[in-house]
Amino acid sequence: MQISDTRPKQSPRILLTDAALMQSLKEAIAQKLVPDVVKIDQQGIYPQDFLREIGEIGAYGQGVSVEYGGTGRGVLSAIKAIEMVSEACLSTGFMAWCHNACSWYLQNTDNPFLREQILPKVATGQLLAGTGLSNPMKHFAGIEKIKITATPCDGGYILNGTLPWVSNIGDQHLFGVSAQIEGTDDYLMAIAQGGMQGLELRQDVHFIALEGTNTFRCLFRNAFISHDWILAAPCDRYVEYIKPGFILMQVGMGLGLTQNCIDLMRRVDKTKQHVNQYLDDRPDEMEMELEALRLKSYRLAEAIGHGRELVSKEVLREVIQARATASELSLRASQSLMLHAGAIAYVHGSVYDRRLRESYFVAMVTPALKHLRKVLATMPK
Ligand SMILES: Cc1cc2nc3c(=O)[nH]c(=O)nc-3n(C[C@H](O)[C@H](O)[C@H](O)COP(=O)(O)OP(=O)(O)OC[C@H]3O[C@@H](n4cnc5c(N)ncnc54)[C@H](O)[C@@H]3O)c2cc1C
Repeated sequence: MQISDTRPKQSPRILLTDAALMQSLKEAIAQKLVPDVVKIDQQGIYPQDFLREIGEIGAYGQGVSVEYGGTGRGVLSAIKAIEMVSEACLSTGFMAWCHNACSWYLQNTDNPFLREQILPKVATGQLLAGTGLSNPMKHFAGIEKIKITATPCDGGYILNGTLPWVSNIGDQHLFGVSAQIEGTDDYLMAIAQGGMQGLELRQDVHFIALEGTNTFRCLFRNAFISHDWILAAPCDRYVEYIKPGFILMQVGMGLGLTQNCIDLMRRVDKTKQHVNQYLDDRPDEMEMELEALRLKSYRLAEAIGHGRELVSKEVLREVIQARATASELSLRASQSLMLHAGAIAYVHGSVYDRRLRESYFVAMVTPALKHLRKVLATMPK
C-alpha cells in the first residue's frame, strides 16, 4: 500500500456541528444505505461507497483531535453515528464501529507517523479500517490463548499466527492487531495493512448474518511490520487507554438495533395491538429500558472524553455493564419483534428475520455477553 506523506485536507463537511452531522448522516443512510440493506445481508455486498461517504461526513472523526483530521468531540458523537447506522443495518453499523475502533487506536498512540500521516486519512474515511482485537481481548480476560507472536528483528517485528475473523478489511484496508513479543511476557499493538507481504486474507465460511462485512481469516506467515506501524510495545498501559472507548462504542450497535425493533413492533401494533398487548417486552417497556441505557452510555462517553488517559474502575465497570445490557436488550427486542409480527416474520428475507439474526451478533462479538459477565463477576469491587 502506498501511503503518501502529504497530510490530506480536512473535509469541510467534517466540521459540521453535531446536529448537522446527524442530519447529513440521516440523509446518507436513507438515500444510500437503506436501498441496499437486503443486498448487504443476503448477497454479502460490501457497502464500500457508503462507508467512505460517511467518513467524509464525519462519522469516524469524532473521537479524533482536530489537528489529526477529526472534530475532537469525543466518543459520544461516534456512538450516536454507530447507533444511527445500526438502526438501518447492523452489518454496516458494525463496520462503522470497526472503523471507529481503529481510528481510536490511532488517536491513542504516541507514534508520530501513525498519528500524523495515517490517522487523518482514517478519520476521514479515505483509508478504511478494521480491528482484529477479539483474540487478545479474550486472551487478556483468560478465555483463550494469544494467536499471534511477534519476533523482534531489524527495524521491527515478524508476525506469525492466524486470526479467525477480521471484518471491514481487504487489500487496501488497515486493521489493528496485537501479538505476544516472542520470549517475553509483553505484548504489542500494531496496524497491519491488508495487502502486506506475508499476510493472506481468506474467506472460507458463510455467516448467518453480517455477510456484507468483508470478514476474512487473516494468516500471518513471516509478515514484517516496521516500527512505523507499531501503536505501542509493550502495550499494557495503552490497552487500558483504548479499552473503555472500544467497548462503549459497541453499545451504539445495540441502541440502534433495539430502537428499530421497537419501531417495527409499533408498526405491527397498528393492526395487531388488540392481541399483541398480551405479549411480554412490549414496545413502551422496551423503550423505557432503551432510553435508560442510551442516557447511561452517553454519560459514560462524556467521562471517557478524548482518550489518552485512564478511566476509574467504577467507570470501566459501568461501561462493561452498559455493553452487556446492550446485548440483552438487542436479544429481547428482536425476539419480541418476531412474536409481535407473527407469521410474516417467518418469511425468509423479511426485515424481522434480518433483525433477529443480527441481534445475536451484538451478544456474540467480542466482548461477547459471556465474556462481559465473566469480567463483571471477577472484577474487584
Ligand atoms: C461475522 C463475524 C465478524 C467478526 N469480526 C471480527 C472482527 O472484525 N475482529 C475480530 O477481532 N473478531 C471478529 N469476529 C470474532 C468475534 O468477535 C468473536 O471472537 C468470535 O465470534 C468468537 O467469540 P466467542 O466468544 O463465541 O468465542 P468462543 O466461545 O471461544 O467460540 C468460538 C468457537 O468458534 C471456533 N472457531 C473460531 N474460529 C473459527 C473459524 N475460523 N472456523 C471455525 N471455527 C472457528 C472456536 O474453535 C470455538 O469453538 C467476528 C466474528 C463473526 C462471526
